[in-house]
Amino acid sequence: MNLDDCRALDRADPLRDLRAQFTLPADVIYLDGNSLGVLPAAAPARIAAVVAEEWGQGLIRSWNSASWFDLPQRLGDKLARLIGAAPGEVVCTDSTSINLYKVLFAATSQVLEYGDDARRTVVSERSNFPTDLYIAESLCRERGFTLRLIDSVDALPTALTAEVAVLMLTHVNYRTGAMHDMKAVTAAAHAVGALTVWDLAHSAGAVPVALNDSDADYAIGCGYKYLNGGPGAPAFVWVHTRHAGRFEQPLSGWWGHAAPFEFTPHYRPAPGVGRYLCGTQPIVSLSALECGLDTVLAAEAFDGEAGAMSALRTKSLALTDAFIALVEARCPGRFTLVTPRDHAQRGSQVCLALQDAASASAYAIVQALIARGVIGDFRAGDAQVPDILRFGFTPLYLRFEDVWQSVEHLVQVLESEEWKRPEFNRKNAVT
Ligand SMILES: *Cc1c(COP(=O)(O)O)cnc(C)c1O
Repeated sequence: MNLDDCRALDRADPLRDLRAQFTLPADVIYLDGNSLGVLPAAAPARIAAVVAEEWGQGLIRSWNSASWFDLPQRLGDKLARLIGAAPGEVVCTDSTSINLYKVLFAATSQVLEYGDDARRTVVSERSNFPTDLYIAESLCRERGFTLRLIDSVDALPTALTAEVAVLMLTHVNYRTGAMHDMKAVTAAAHAVGALTVWDLAHSAGAVPVALNDSDADYAIGCGYKYLNGGPGAPAFVWVHTRHAGRFEQPLSGWWGHAAPFEFTPHYRPAPGVGRYLCGTQPIVSLSALECGLDTVLAAEAFDGEAGAMSALRTKSLALTDAFIALVEARCPGRFTLVTPRDHAQRGSQVCLALQDAASASAYAIVQALIARGVIGDFRAGDAQVPDILRFGFTPLYLRFEDVWQSVEHLVQVLESEEWKRPEFNRKNAVT
């Protein structure tokens, strides 16, 4: 594959015009949409209108006249189309960390209610995103549960015992980009009477997700990654309808009350997933998130029945396949592929590790690429996973030519040994 081939793929790409939905900086190839999504071109005007008109002029009337009140549910209905859920099953609210606490509490309450005293274990992967493990740790401590960490889902057949109350997994691993088979893993958990909590932070807007078809129990996810909702955008919660109206979340604020404006002294949860709201919602941030959701939903036009994620998935796999093939052809012997080659197990990112860790610094290579405008990121390794160069591929705006140019820069950084420069070897606070 050469540059001309990549340009031909771009000309033939049915999704090529979706790139115009974004304001992208010139001279940047952005391979970090898995960490912070890009700015939708519609967002600045939308945010300005919410501030100047809905807030400035409408003032308190806007809760009704601008439909502020329903925003978490309205956005939840849009998001539902991307994660295999139905309208009324999702709310956009709070952060991923906070939503995880809420659903873990609800799931463990369910087990406590059934009075199964032997079932007091939450299982997760050691390689899960740290905030998920931190939240699970404190919740388990508070409720007298044990958090059992496994090295990988290969250990599930032995880890899923009759003591397991909840299996909490992140669908696509943040470091390796490896994706679980949600349906099979959920079935294995249910077979031993455990509930599932899925974190979709690297899945929503990135890969097809089928929550209802997988018969999952609870899910949460992030608004500022592939959904392009803006830094710190509200996250989301989904609860299967069989649980949604039955269990209370722990943060029983007035926005999750059945009738918040009756101002009664006692809490009565709203029916369904509405009870997963807590307090007054961040309307400006939710408005920005809506612009991000609309950029992903725009892909529905190319796919009809199959939904936005089918067309996006096809292009995402073609982009990551091209990147892998070019790295292997042009940097032979330098990198190992950490992300699974198998499409069924690959998210929308590609992670590389140095084949010979002593031959260069993965961190410094990433810094040198960033200085050239190729923005990916570095994730430090541990006993299980090596140091990683991480590249996220967002099919909404990335071109095959971008894939070519990224690998060209990588080749140049290695050949010139540019990564050795001191400025690329100093650690930043946030990388
Ligand atoms: C990005 C990410 C989060 C982020 O949580 P915040 O509450 O938004 O900081 C949580 N979990 C996973 C798996 C993530 O990838």
